[in-house]
Amino acid sequence: MVAGIGGNQYIQSWRSRQTGNGHPLVFPGGPATPGNYRRFAAAFHEAEIKYAAKAHTGAAVLSTLLDIGVDIECAAAGELGRAIRAGSDPNALQYTAVNPPGADLDYAVELAADNPGLTITAGARDTFDRLAARGYDGRVAIRINPGIGTGHHEKVATGKDAKFGIPYEDVPGVAESVRSRFDLVGIHAHVGSGVLQADLADHCRALGVVAEMARTVGDLEFVDFGGGFGVPYREDEQPLDMAAVGEKVWSAVQPLDARVVLEPGRYIVADAGCLLTEVNTVKEAPSTTVVGVDASLATMIRPAMFDAYHPIRNVSAPRREARSVSVGGPCCTSADVFCTDRPLAAPQRGDLLAIGNVGAYGYELASNFHSMPRPAEVALDGSETRVARRRETFEDLVRLEVE
Ligand SMILES: *Cc1c(COP(=O)(O)O)cnc(C)c1O
Repeated sequence: MVAGIGGNQYIQSWRSRQTGNGHPLVFPGGPATPGNYRRFAAAFHEAEIKYAAKAHTGAAVLSTLLDIGVDIECAAAGELGRAIRAGSDPNALQYTAVNPPGADLDYAVELAADNPGLTITAGARDTFDRLAARGYDGRVAIRINPGIGTGHHEKVATGKDAKFGIPYEDVPGVAESVRSRFDLVGIHAHVGSGVLQADLADHCRALGVVAEMARTVGDLEFVDFGGGFGVPYREDEQPLDMAAVGEKVWSAVQPLDARVVLEPGRYIVADAGCLLTEVNTVKEAPSTTVVGVDASLATMIRPAMFDAYHPIRNVSAPRREARSVSVGGPCCTSADVFCTDRPLAAPQRGDLLAIGNVGAYGYELASNFHSMPRPAEVALDGSETRVARRRETFEDLVRLEVE
């Protein structure tokens, strides 16, 4: 996979495991990570923007954003470690703990001992108790559950999922107990993901409910409304008009006597990355033409996991006559398909296909299912390309096995 960092975009590359580093590809005029950030920040010029690292934690992406002054939001100790390795000041980090493993809390508490600016967000009484048990009394935010979720798929509508945040009615009581033990600086909520124009009214309503609770709790440094802003995946979807979105969100949450924080992940990196995969099989079947490629759901699971649509182009022969095809990978499950019956410039064996918009939750969700090595990532900066992460080898796959 690839990371578009500078003037161009973020790319991800995969070719057959035997060949070199693949062919990085730029869709001319395509978006770039810094450009996406600047458009977002301009729409919310009075807010503080943090990048939600879990969308893509590659060092090329993190350091590019850190270089232009963006702070990072982390949801696991590993993400904190990566942000620091990429150059983040630990004091500027925010750690959102969801059912945190003990080792993650140990790491965060130890980090905060030398970096009192670190903020830990928790969404369960247990998490606060576990922090206190570790002697922590520093900066905390309370994650609240507004009871409303929004987004492109029920698996990402976190705002109404009981797993996330303190139940709305319990927040004032929890806030009081938290204040007596910690430095309560913020209220936090992240209510959904992949929000486009059609979901915007609901999303703003949920954020309004969060703001209302922040006013009830009072005396806060910031109110963090999470991320969730979507990008178009289908060719007929419209991108968000960010200036209008900024105004709508702002009017839904004001007045607030606290800083507004937003944590976009997907919006910053999704369309700055693409996955390159090589055609190895073209098979006529009675119902469709099957195109086999070397990438799989182990490389990019979004279609299998979220029914996600991703644009696909035949970059080897974009002008070849179109033909309706189904593209699938080498995994032994029928879920391993990137598209079904979709017109594509007729692929032939050896062609490279580009699967678009994989910058967010693409490489991050890649696995070694079927003992498949994960692909290389290539970062593009203007016309410069560099391998940002090498392809995994067979040795990488077995490295941790104990004889
Ligand atoms: C995932 C996540 C985000 C970012 O969500 P996007 O939909 O990628 O913008 C922000 N905040 C928290 C706490 C998250 O878990």
